[in-house]
Amino acid sequence: TVIPITDLEKLNVLGHGNGGTVYKVQHKRTSEIYALKLVHGDSEPTVRRQVFREMEILRRTDSPHIVRCDGIYEMPSGDIAILMEYMDLGTLDTLLQRNGTFTESALADVARQVLSGLSYLHSHKIIHRDIKPSNLLVNNKMEVKISDFGVSKIMCRTLDACNSYVGTCAYMSPERFDPDAYGGNYNGYAGDIWSLGLTLFELYVGHFPFLPPGQRPDWATLMCAICFADPPSLPETASEEFRSFVECCLQKESSKRWTVAQLLSHPFVCKDPCL
Ligand code: ATP
Ligand code: MG
Repeated sequence: TVIPITDLEKLNVLGHGNGGTVYKVQHKRTSEIYALKLVHGDSEPTVRRQVFREMEILRRTDSPHIVRCDGIYEMPSGDIAILMEYMDLGTLDTLLQRNGTFTESALADVARQVLSGLSYLHSHKIIHRDIKPSNLLVNNKMEVKISDFGVSKIMCRTLDACNSYVGTCAYMSPERFDPDAYGGNYNGYAGDIWSLGLTLFELYVGHFPFLPPGQRPDWATLMCAICFADPPSLPETASEEFRSFVECCLQKESSKRWTVAQLLSHPFVCKDPCL
């Protein structure tokens, strides 16, 4: 049951990305609400490449913690549209702006869901490469889903190089900047774990971990902080379990960083004895 794009009515703009615009749309007959990402056919080649990559991945994925794709449209004009489930609370970033910092139990819930999404992706040989609060969508059931696959990578071979500078550099792991010093680029999956650690950290303290509140630095300052400073650690107010979880994510050496499977049985996200 493919939804014809002519059955959809635009309601309003939900957000702008770096290539397209996301609209809130309504199915005229069922009244169902969706999100529709529209990218113009005459966009730059890099933008088009990103959309095609996103389409490719959304076509392949089916997980409760990855935003569901309900249709892909390639118009004769060259315009491309991706129909997605509507996540009515927006992103974790907007929730942070609107409601302030998250409690630990809320973050344990976020961590559990993002790990479940990452577990799906990694087992399907997909590296997201841009995990951050603004790419994690939330709905009123407090379900958290991974979105935005514009810079993701499908690993064809196990030794696929994965060190090109894509993604938001603030959330990039040390080995993305300097593969030789931090465990090489053979393990691109570990980069997603680093980004998850920074994301949880930011949602707890309310600002980007490597920087004092309010500062928006240049690329070089950030890269130096990420590569040369010790990984940030959570304030004393955080529980032992939470601090330990974030520490396992923020190991600078990618080979020491925990994998999704290991983290899923960490006491922070695993209330019942899981062994
Ligand atoms: P960026 O460059 O900021 O990462 P982008 O080009 O990747 O943006 P998206 O992140 O996919 O574009 O979408 C832009 C914005 O639209 C999001 O930040 C979010 O606020 C909103 N949005 C995207 N998808 C949905 C959805 N399924 N439900 C509700 N809102 C959405
Ligand atoms: Mg985004």
